[in-house]
Amino acid sequence: MRSLLALLLAAGLLSPAAGAQIYALHFKDEKAAKNFSKQLYDLEGKQVMLVMLKSGVIEKADGSGFTWNENSRLEFFVQDQEDPSKVSYKIVGDELEAADKSLVIGVQSDRVESLQGFMPRESFATLAKEYGRRARELEELAKRQAEEQKGSPAWFAIGRVRVQALEQLHIWLGETGYGRAANKLERDLLRERKALDEGAKERINRALGSVKESELSPKFKDVSAKVAPGVKFAAQESQHLRIIYHDKVDPARVTALLELGERAIELFKNEFVDPYVGEDFKDHIPDGMFEEFFFGRDDAIQYERMLVEYYGQGWGSGKEKEDRLKAQGSRRNHEKLALAYWKITDQEDLEGIVLHELGHTLASLHYEILNGQDWLGEGSGYYLSFALLSRNNVNCFAFEPEKGPGDGTVAKGPGGSKPKAPAKKTAAVMQGAREVMAEMALMAGPPMDQLAKKELWDFANEDMAKSWAWYDWISRRCGKQGQVWLRRSSKIANVSRDLFLLELRKMTAEVFALAPDKDPVQALEERWKEYLTREYDVAAPPAR
Ligand SMILES: [Zn+2]
Repeated sequence: MRSLLALLLAAGLLSPAAGAQIYALHFKDEKAAKNFSKQLYDLEGKQVMLVMLKSGVIEKADGSGFTWNENSRLEFFVQDQEDPSKVSYKIVGDELEAADKSLVIGVQSDRVESLQGFMPRESFATLAKEYGRRARELEELAKRQAEEQKGSPAWFAIGRVRVQALEQLHIWLGETGYGRAANKLERDLLRERKALDEGAKERINRALGSVKESELSPKFKDVSAKVAPGVKFAAQESQHLRIIYHDKVDPARVTALLELGERAIELFKNEFVDPYVGEDFKDHIPDGMFEEFFFGRDDAIQYERMLVEYYGQGWGSGKEKEDRLKAQGSRRNHEKLALAYWKITDQEDLEGIVLHELGHTLASLHYEILNGQDWLGEGSGYYLSFALLSRNNVNCFAFEPEKGPGDGTVAKGPGGSKPKAPAKKTAAVMQGAREVMAEMALMAGPPMDQLAKKELWDFANEDMAKSWAWYDWISRRCGKQGQVWLRRSSKIANVSRDLFLLELRKMTAEVFALAPDKDPVQALEERWKEYLTREYDVAAPPAR
């Protein structure tokens, strides 16, 4: 600080007319400081007073600092710690003149130890200007936020920017000597943070209040009259979801399903979006409808034809078609919506279907999954189902894609100890409770880098178990790092399969700031094992 001060003095910037210098005045002793209790500022544990020079202080001829006459009265301009917009002086010609006498302070020179440069490029006037700019920006944000519907994504987005700006202003006030203004602002901050919580309450109430009957399109009526004669369909929708259902399903249950779905979306947002959202972590969950559920009768012909004739989608041909039609439901995209297409009886676990399917859809949206990452969709499906129902009754499976001529090898995870997969795999049927899955994941689950590349058709029970157990840990226990890791692993998977593992390792080391002396994915795996062992009271198997 001293050399900077000398340099500035040499450059002649310190004449009072320049007026751009704020100093920390150090007192001889604590007793001297006490007389100015309203003006004190804590500088690295020392009680000083932030001042600008008025009179009595003499610049040394060699430019090395200041001096003053013994027993003289030194005068300084000081701040109003409560109000940064108040400036204690006005500039008249080349001089600073007192504008507010209460903010001019005289100190006996024998009480002053030294003057230390504090903010060489600022004056109380420039600080007042800076404060004005910040205050206007905050006013502007408040106005914009008031124009949005409380609890809407835009309202939240602006609200978070506002709280951020308030937090920054709070720090700035504290650092520049306006301590009492900072204390006052703290109360505003608490109120604003609380308003964000209330916004979240309003958001879920709006979603729950949005449930209503939905018109079936003329096309749907035509097609269903032809394909499923005698079966009446109805539809209900909410802010994000629509359910089309046949007449054996109780409409009150459908209403409850939509409410359950909306609660699940809110839970997902609360856990994985709200705490981290910002410029570098956008909220990808739409404010409008994003998923449609079709619950048709448990009838093979109807199941096959409604998809073709109403949704305009195919089943493939030959063995593939036969296999697909055997399944009870399938997940697709229809126009801009995710489509969960099912044949059901009224005995079905519809709650389980809605939550598991939603888990897949929310993961796709939030982590932007385009390619692969089958484990992540499953992990999220099981997670949501467990979180709200403590059960999972939906088991996803896929059939091995057919290979073209010459394409003899089957894509599967590295490790290579297993023989080439048979043409048709046994589907994973993972029905266990959390404890069972945790134990299976720990004892028999594949290492994460193998699982990350695995495709659903190749999944066995231990893969499902590990998918859930890993997702549950990394998404809920690893904070923003976990969310960023999940998003970035999807990004890597979207781009390339060949470089996936290499990029995954690089990214993992970066996100979790891991030392390069160890395989980063392996290091993460050990943290996961440690957590699971503790949380579920299962003994970890010896390292492989
Ligand atoms: Zn699934």
